[in-house]
Amino acid sequence: MHVLIVGGGPVGLVTSLALSSLGVRNTVIERSVDVYGLPRAIVMDAEVRHSLSRLGLGSRLDEVLEPMLAADFVDAAGGHLTGIDLTGIQLLGCPAVSKHFQPMLEAMLRHEVRERGARLMLGSEVREHRADASGVEIRFDDASSVQGDYLVACDGASSRTRKAVGIQLEDLGFDQDWLVVDVELFDRQQAQLPDLTRQVCDPRRPTTLVSGFRNFYRFEFQLQPGENPAEMSSVPQVWKLLSSWISVSQARLVRTATYRFHAVVADRLREGRVLLAGDSAHQMPPFMGQGLNSGMRDAFNLSWKLAYVGNGWSTPDLLDTYSVERLPHVRAVVEQSVDTGRLIDQFAGRVSHGVSREAGYGGSRRSPRYEDGVLVPGPAVGTQYSQWHTIVNTDLRAFVVLSDESLALDGQLGRVPIRNVCTDRISRLNHEVVVVRPDGYVAACCTRSELSEVLTVLRERLCLDY
Ligand SMILES: Cc1cc2nc3c(=O)[nH]c(=O)nc-3n(C[C@H](O)[C@H](O)[C@H](O)COP(=O)(O)OP(=O)(O)OC[C@H]3O[C@@H](n4cnc5c(N)ncnc54)[C@H](O)[C@@H]3O)c2cc1C
Repeated sequence: MHVLIVGGGPVGLVTSLALSSLGVRNTVIERSVDVYGLPRAIVMDAEVRHSLSRLGLGSRLDEVLEPMLAADFVDAAGGHLTGIDLTGIQLLGCPAVSKHFQPMLEAMLRHEVRERGARLMLGSEVREHRADASGVEIRFDDASSVQGDYLVACDGASSRTRKAVGIQLEDLGFDQDWLVVDVELFDRQQAQLPDLTRQVCDPRRPTTLVSGFRNFYRFEFQLQPGENPAEMSSVPQVWKLLSSWISVSQARLVRTATYRFHAVVADRLREGRVLLAGDSAHQMPPFMGQGLNSGMRDAFNLSWKLAYVGNGWSTPDLLDTYSVERLPHVRAVVEQSVDTGRLIDQFAGRVSHGVSREAGYGGSRRSPRYEDGVLVPGPAVGTQYSQWHTIVNTDLRAFVVLSDESLALDGQLGRVPIRNVCTDRISRLNHEVVVVRPDGYVAACCTRSELSEVLTVLRERLCLDY
């Protein structure tokens, strides 16, 4: 199995790392020689950080991540509306939310991709590809080409690949123009900016503050009707907007850019041998900081399935479960991000969207989960196993069956490796058995007597190739 990854942005790089860790040969094809030097994503959630740690990146991540301490919504006068104190909160053994400077993160990921033996073709733009029953081929302008078995399109929001295979984006109906300004503070303490993510629900101009990695800080200003994006992003105008928080003597501008925040999701993630991941498949307003996190979740979901197909354990039908699992999940995340954006306007008293304040940070909304796919539906199924970080699993391709008593499991999932780990945590969770997939998601919870039936269902859902 050889996987061609088009696009060496963060999602393409993580797809490569995940595939390499599973023993799948892969090549990343990226048009830019250098890492894109300007930040976009700032926050990484605990699930993604933990999944990257399992690839052996833990200490490298410690160098490029810091914990985010809090997130809130305030009114124009700074009065608290809703929020959450994240100090010391750990999920999966990681800070609940971490912040990073995207170019540093990407540089580290690029280095690791090479270290782990994948081929990284920089300065190579993909203009056409061919995919048929025999495989995929990418031809370059100099008449050279590269062949593989599958193509994962991580080529960003304007994805050439997505358009070429005819996958459509569904517009979920959110369009707002915002001016995004990144600064580097000369002295963080002296600047006295809040060390958190804050939505300032000011009726005159909703504004987002995001405390970044080290001395970086982001301001996002909602553009108002009639404002010209080019004029609003001129340096004098930017400093005028910043003047409520900092002066020109306190920071340097890293970048200013106007974005149309929108909400779109692909109608499917697979077309034969071509699979979409990251912004090529979904884009969302940044209020939940979930764009890149969602792309990385794509990478973790897809990579073990490609490995199973590559090893001949599963038929290619397994790859259809990638859309079945990821699309409803990411759609829910996009909708939650839209609600969070609407809540800002609503708190600012500009318009009522009927959005509950639970859409704010720390609200009690249920996290999306996989409802269908390689799992046996049930209440605790379809989310990351919350104690996954405590389970040492040396075979990243294996299904892990957690139980309070040892079980004989050899061959129960065909040629798929299956391991039994005995732990007393299971009984504390009121289950006798929990089945965890290679990506750390719970595939089933059951009693010992139900396990045989559960594994029969999973064999079918894994599309095992006997
Ligand atoms: C203002 C803002 C704030 C954000 N904040 C957050 C946040 O806090 N947390 C979060 O999770 N997300 C956030 N996001 C979203 C996040 O930045 C994106 O989801 C993420 O960068 C997408 O990564 P990607 O690898 O899918 O795409 P990209 O980063 O766009 O990478 C695509 C890569 O493909 C390459 N490429 C494209 N076409 C070709 C081709 N034909 N041949 C070869 N190479 C090609 C490009 O050069 C590029 O390197 C934010 C976005 C914005 C705009």
